[in-house]
This record gives sequence, structure tokens and C-alpha cells, in this order.
Amino acid sequence: MIKLHDLYFKPFISEQELDATVQRLVDEIANDLQDEVPVFVGILNGSFMFVSDFVKKYPKPCEVTFIKLASYEGLKSTEDIHRLIGLTQDLSGRKVVILEDIIDSGNTLVEVHRIFENENVDELKIATLFYKPEAYKKDYKLHYVGMEIPNKFIVGYGLDYDGLGRHLPAVYQLKTRQHMTNLVLFGPPGAGKGTQA
Ligand code: 5GP
Ligand code: MG
Ligand code: MG
Repeated sequence: MIKLHDLYFKPFISEQELDATVQRLVDEIANDLQDEVPVFVGILNGSFMFVSDFVKKYPKPCEVTFIKLASYEGLKSTEDIHRLIGLTQDLSGRKVVILEDIIDSGNTLVEVHRIFENENVDELKIATLFYKPEAYKKDYKLHYVGMEIPNKFIVGYGLDYDGLGRHLPAVYQLKTRQHMTNLVLFGPPGAGKGTQA
């Protein structure tokens, strides 16, 4: 068990499981792309560790770049997506694969599609390491999914709780007690940011 700020997290997905999942995604994607040289686009900050491990395993030539979006505040996803760094190169005619850490409500994905609307890419595919089916509210197809997980807050392997936990090599899940669930997940507006709960 670990403590980040005011909350406790329990071990959820081991380094070995993460490694096997990333390898499976690499195999699927490399197999589908054949001899194309893809551009992998990581969504910062959360995907940095996934992207790093993914491209180290990728067996063929590829390009890697990042865009930086922010939506989460503490424990809750918001619809207000900030575009902090956009695309910095021309991707027209390219096979693009988005590498996301986790797809929750899908709000971030809306912004990703908006960014690529006028880019004239040859193909845009979405790969995510984690997916919360119970939370997903959009219709965009998710082409590659590492693991489906329950609708509970996780940290580690790039994912943070208010800045902490990104460096952890494994994934941890929020440990909720009954009274804590109410307090944290259904608290007043602004709950989850820094000092709350
Ligand atoms: P969405 O926009 O789909 O609701 O959420 C996508 C982003 O919210 C992810 O890229 C990630 O940064 C953040 N996020 C979603 N679920 C979790 C979670 O369980 N833990 C953490 N730490 N971040 C999450
Ligand atoms: Mg992300
Ligand atoms: Mg975050």
C-alpha cells in the first residue's frame, strides 16, 4: 500500500503484467501496419512511460512525437480540455497511432480528433493502455486496448494523483472505504484538487 497526498492506494497491476500488455499491443499494431512507417503520437503527461516502453519494443522503423493535453483535476475528469502543446510537424498522408495512457470519459479523445480534423492523415488509430468501459461516454472506436479496468481511480506508470505517483513502475488503485467514497467522489465542486479529502 502507498500513500499519495491524503489518499491510500493498493497494488493493482504488476510490472510484469504491464510489460506483457505493452508487448501484446506492440505485436498487434506492428502486425497491422506491416511495412508502413507510422507516427506514434503520445498524449502527455500520462502516456510518457507507456510510449517509452512501447517504442523500445517496436520492431520496425517508426516516428514518435507528443502532444500535451490536460483534463483531469485530482480524481475527476473534466470536459474542459486544455491544449498545452499541439502538433509541431506535418502529418499529412501518414499512418498515425495515438498512444493514450487511459481512456475514461472520452473527453480527451474528442480534443484529439479535433486536433487531427484538418491534418489529412492517411489513417488515425487510437491505442490505449487502459480503458474504463463503464465511464466511456463517446462513440469513437478504440482500435487497440491494453486492459479494460473498473471505473476506479488508478496511479502509477505515468498516471498521477495531483502530481504524485507518475514515477511508479507498477499501477495502484485508490483504496476506498465507504465513507471515503462519498467524500472523495461525490464531494463539493473543486474536490480532488490538492487539499481535499
Ligand atoms: P478522459 O478525458 O477520457 O475522461 O480522461 C483521459 C485522461 O484523464 C487520461 O489521459 C488521464 O490523464 C486522466 N485519467 C483518466 N482516468 C484516470 C485515472 O484513473 N487515474 C489517473 N491518474 N488519471 C486518469
Ligand atoms: Mg492521457
Ligand atoms: Mg493527471
